[in-house]
Parts: sequence; structure tokens; C-alpha cells
Amino acid sequence: MIRSAAVVRVIEGLHTRPATSLAQLAKAYQCAIELESPAGKANMKSPVKLMLLGVKEGDEVYINADGPDERDAVTRLLAYLMDPASGVGEAEEAAPAAPAGQAAPGAAIASTAPAAQPDNVLQGVAGSKGVAVGTPYLVFPEPLVPERQVICEDEIDAELERFRGVLEQFVAEANARAQQPSTSEQTRSILRALVDVAMDEEFVGAIIRGIEGQGDAAAVVLRVGQALSEAFESLDDPYMRARSEDIRGVARKLAAQLLGVPLPDLGAIASPCVIVAADLSAWDFSSLALEHVQGLVCTGGSATSHVAIMARTYGIPAVLGVGQRQALLAGASRIVVDGDQGRAIVNPDPAQEAAAEAAIAAARATAEALQRYRDVVPLTSDGREIHVCANLGALSEIPLALRAGAMGVGLFRTELLFMQHRELPSEDMQAHAYTQLAQAFFPRQVIVRTLDVGGDKPIAGLSFPVEENPFLGWRGVRMCLDRPEVFKPQLRALLRAAGVGNLRVMIPMISDIEEVRSVKALIAQCRQELVEQGIAHGEFDLGIMIETPAAVLQADALAAEVAFFSIGTNDLTQYVMATDRANAQVARLYRIEHPAVMKAVHLACRAARAAGIPVGICGEAAANLELIPKFIHMGVTELSMSPASILAAKQRIHSL
Ligand code: PEP
Ligand code: MG
Repeated sequence: MIRSAAVVRVIEGLHTRPATSLAQLAKAYQCAIELESPAGKANMKSPVKLMLLGVKEGDEVYINADGPDERDAVTRLLAYLMDPASGVGEAEEAAPAAPAGQAAPGAAIASTAPAAQPDNVLQGVAGSKGVAVGTPYLVFPEPLVPERQVICEDEIDAELERFRGVLEQFVAEANARAQQPSTSEQTRSILRALVDVAMDEEFVGAIIRGIEGQGDAAAVVLRVGQALSEAFESLDDPYMRARSEDIRGVARKLAAQLLGVPLPDLGAIASPCVIVAADLSAWDFSSLALEHVQGLVCTGGSATSHVAIMARTYGIPAVLGVGQRQALLAGASRIVVDGDQGRAIVNPDPAQEAAAEAAIAAARATAEALQRYRDVVPLTSDGREIHVCANLGALSEIPLALRAGAMGVGLFRTELLFMQHRELPSEDMQAHAYTQLAQAFFPRQVIVRTLDVGGDKPIAGLSFPVEENPFLGWRGVRMCLDRPEVFKPQLRALLRAAGVGNLRVMIPMISDIEEVRSVKALIAQCRQELVEQGIAHGEFDLGIMIETPAAVLQADALAAEVAFFSIGTNDLTQYVMATDRANAQVARLYRIEHPAVMKAVHLACRAARAAGIPVGICGEAAANLELIPKFIHMGVTELSMSPASILAAKQRIHSL
């Protein structure tokens, strides 16, 4: 038996997806594993139980494991809990341009914001930004009422069979939906979370016991779903409370199937409409014919509901939690969804409708104006071409970047590749991933950053020392150079992918010229080995990230060693200002536009220009519309940012 303590670093704690992933990891081990928090203990193999513990970021917890593989299990699970990147992807995706009939984010209906709202205005919460106006499509299904509560003893086996059949069908349907090419990554992971809820020991076990105790399957499913969703509702955390909807949604779906009651067929919607529902579950949302959905209004729900997250993903304006106004909504022939102000307007008067239409038109014009920049190569007034590229963390983000008009990839963070697995990714697996990335953008350039993890971001298969100051410790290139068995497979994989012809590689956290020389020597060694082994490979330009004051102050010497610089303003700001980038208490000092940081950027650019090598920026500041002109003035020729920011950045550059 092992007992190990940890402080949870998972951002926002163990909500649905981290809890689901953690349980998934735990299930791979034979040993019994329990998570102990101040609120109690839970079987780590049950996502629902984990969620119910309500573990928050910063909580101190213990893992208790007992069994043959307890050591491995504890190491892996601790790494997950202590990794702020666990559960990444929870954040909303960038909202795409709004389809016809909707206004994109930011277009509020200013003229309909009176101090006292007219009776036809229902105030709720903003679930997803943008404005839409359309014909309501009402989804207020009748409550499901089981025909009986109890069954005879000799019906138990058949009833269990019926329940298992319905459960299997639900799982198969959810998996099939998740696999559809049109399903976004976000929806996919929500569907997986729903499957996990449906298969959870706590949920299924209670239902089976209920049926074995002579309960009617549908009645038991509804009862268990209700009890479990109430348990979630009583949690403090609003995000966790919102998960009760997922459980109710799954229970409803299963019970309807058992009762043979058809649920509204949302996939059959054939004309543009605004969905008006009591409580749209994540399952309901995933069945919607989204191309016809202009907006969404729910009487229940909150901004953290899965339905809100999904609406944001698809850029559908949504207002949730408008309260029990079913009668008013049922009489609507037209409805405005104002996802910016978090309100719905039932049967808008001509002025309200005109204001909504104006907001939609203005937003559409802005979005369309930006779309024009998709294939534009932005030139400055003096004719310099600026590359506006994407920062990516996973191959699944490639389509988003291409749609956004990325002119290449300025930063591919390889950390996720290493964190997603239970062991270090193999050379083959990495070569495959980097090749796919390079091919997707060919002939545009792709810059892959070598592994940048450290004491603050542990990964499976590598043990890190506990450090007093992880950001000043064994991270990035420092760790990689000490661990050639980790670094060399990555370098070899990159050389293999370089055969595509558009790959460049950069090294993070450089603070000493010897580090660059050592990396070059290691690359030469890898190349030699590949030649000797007859393995096909190519060549890549090697660059470095400028992230430390030491790199800035030696930029002249470093520029003579490498083919390009990429300034990582996120870390550069933290190190120049001696300000932890994640510490809210000192956030006022963490300012990229601070003269000290801007001077550092300027010095790095000056050294690059003098040496005749290109310099780019790949920190968050690259998308800062106010700073872009300054960076370009300093000589920056590449700006790399999250795909959602690309079009606006291109427009800004073009206006210079
Ligand atoms: C940076 O430091 O600016 C950067 C791009 O790297 P990361 O945010 O991954 O540390
Ligand atoms: Mg960095």
C-alpha cells in the first residue's frame, strides 16, 4: 500500500474532463486506488465519484494505492494531478464567424439596453456571444412518466437485459457521433464524458441494484439519475453544479428509450430557427442539425453548462437560465437571442428587431471584412511581407489554423505529445506526428519547438526533482541536454520529418551559448546515426527562442550560431520582470508593454537584423494589435499566435 500527497494543479480542479481522464488512467492499473481530499474519499476509477469529491485547484489530496502495480499508478496519477496542463482543451474554442442570421461576438444591441427592461425581455446569462433573430423551435418535452415502479421477481433478468441493451445502444450512438468528421474536438470530448457518465460504476451499479430489487428499469434510471444529479447540484463549484445536467440528460435519454417514448428529433430540423428549450442537454446539442440553428435560449442552465461550451465552439449565440418563462416562450413567434447581454427578447417590437438586425449586419460586415484577409499575405507600407502564423499544441488544431488563414506554424508546442501518454512517445510516433504537421502546411514553414517541460510540468516516464523554483530550474533545453535518451528520439524524429522540406526547429529556454552548441552537436550525432542506419531524413534550420534576459544580452553571439530567433514574450516578460507569469498577486508587473520588456525585444531584434537572420514573436504579445506596429518597426517578420487572432492581426498589418 502506498500513500502519496499532492497539491492539485489541474486548472479549475477535477471537473468533468480531468476527472474522466484521471479515472481513465486509473482504470489501466490493477491496484485499488483511492483519492482522499478534505471532503472525503473516492474510488479513482469512477469519474462521477471523483467529480463529486469537488476537488479544486490548490487542494491538498492523497492518493492511496494498493496492489501489484501501485508504484507506477501513483507516479502516473500524481503527474496528472500536478500538471496544470491536465484537462487542457476545457477552454472554449475560438468561435468561428457567425452564419447568416447571427451577429458575431461583440456586437451588442446597444439601442435595446434600457435601464428597466420591457416585459418581453428575459434576462438570463450569456452562454455564447453574438446576436441572432429568428423563429423559435420549441423543445419542451413532456416529463417522462414510467408506467410502473415495481416489477415481478421473474421479470428481473429480462429487465436487466433491457437496461443493458439500451445502455449499449446509447454508448454506440455516442461513439458514432464522436467519430463523425464534422464533430469538433470539443464536442467529441464532451460525448466521451457523457459515455463515461453512462458507464460509471456509481450510476450503472445503482441502477442494476435497483432493478435487482424489483424496480422497473425506466423508473430506476430516472430515480438514480435524479439522485446523482441532485448530488452534483449541491456542490459549491458552479462548473460542477452544471454537470448535473449531463447526468439528467443521459438518464432521460436512457429512460425514454426504455419507455419507448420518442424524444424530439433535433437532427431533423430542416429550416433556420432559434432553439428554445427548457434544458438542452449536451446529448441534445450533439444531435442538433447545427447548420439550421441560429441561436439558443434555455430556461435552465448556466454559462458553464456543456451546452454553453458547445454553443461557443460552434459560434452559436446562446442565452441560458432565463427562468421558468415557458408560457411566454411558448407564445413566441419570433425571438431575439442577445448572447452578448445574456438576454432573449420574445416577439420583439419593430425597434427591437431593427436593433438586432443592425447588430447582426454590423457583426457580419466585420467578420466578412476579416475573411478577406484569409489568403492575404500582409505587406507593410514599405513592402515587407509579414508572416502571420499559428501557435499549435496538437495535430487536431491544424484545420482550425488552416481555416483561419495561417501562413505557417510559428510554434508547435510538443509538450502535449509527451503528456498525453503513459510513457514517453516513441521516435516513430513522433516522426509520424511531425511529418503529418509538416505535410498539412506544406509548402508553408512549420516551426517545431523541442520539448519544453520542467519541474512545473511533469511528464510520464521522466522523474523530476522537487525544486524550490521550478521556473528557474531543470526545464526546457536544460533537462533535454541532461537526458539524451529523451532528447535524441525527438531530434531524430524531427530529422526524419524534415524530409518533407518545410520544417524548422527551435530550442526553448536558451540562456547560454554552450547549450546551443551542445544541441547542434547532438543533432549532428543523430544525423550521423540515421545515415549509418540508412533511415531517410532531411535537414532543418535550427533557431532558438529568446526567453531569458541572458539570451537577450548575448543575442549578438547567439545570432551567429543559429538560423532564426523566435521571441517568447510570455517567458521573456516573466524573467525580465522577475514576475511569475502565473501568480495573480504580482500580475500588475507582468506586462509585455513594460519598457524593460520592450527594450529586451528591441535588443534581440537588433542583433538578428545585424546578423541577417529572421526574427519572429510567438508569445501572446504577437496578437496584440497595439504592439504589432512596434514589433514590425523593430524588424520582426513573423508573428505567431492562436488561430483565432490571425485574421485581425493580418488586417492590422495591412493597415500599416
Ligand atoms: C513564450 O514563453 O512566450 C512561449 C511562446 O512559450 P510558452 O508560452 O509555451 O512558455
Ligand atoms: Mg516559453
